[in-house]
Amino acid sequence: MTFRTHMDAALQEAKSAASRGEVPVGAVVVSASGDVIATAGNRTRELNDPTAHAEILAIRAACDVLGQERLTGYDLYVTLEPCPMCAAAISNARIARLYYGASDPKSGGVAQGPAVFTHPQCHHAPEVYEGLSAQASETLIKTFFAQKRGG
Ligand SMILES: [Zn+2]
Repeated sequence: MTFRTHMDAALQEAKSAASRGEVPVGAVVVSASGDVIATAGNRTRELNDPTAHAEILAIRAACDVLGQERLTGYDLYVTLEPCPMCAAAISNARIARLYYGASDPKSGGVAQGPAVFTHPQCHHAPEVYEGLSAQASETLIKTFFAQKRGG
């Protein structure tokens, strides 16, 4: 089976989030055979919910669709390095592979900060692949915050 990235779908979700006034981050849950199970973008403002990050919403939606509490063997694509909260959720969900775009020096929790997956209390660490469509993801974020400052 050839590798096919689903980062484009995640970027699409990030763009939709920006159009709703949300920080542009998008996530997609994909099965081992490449089927898209769930997609989501940030909705913290819309839902008045500080936990409504794209990754959390995509994991919740995928578990709901599948009727199971874990996503063992499933992959998650997200446009930005997950924060510590989302990294913990990814671990709890038993995600097999995490693909993310831009790194997040301010709030990231995978390659920096608490580096959740390398912590001794982390019971499951996914394979991590970073830098997919990183430039596109970073441009979305930077444009969003530049417009906020300007407007
Ligand atoms: Zn998060």
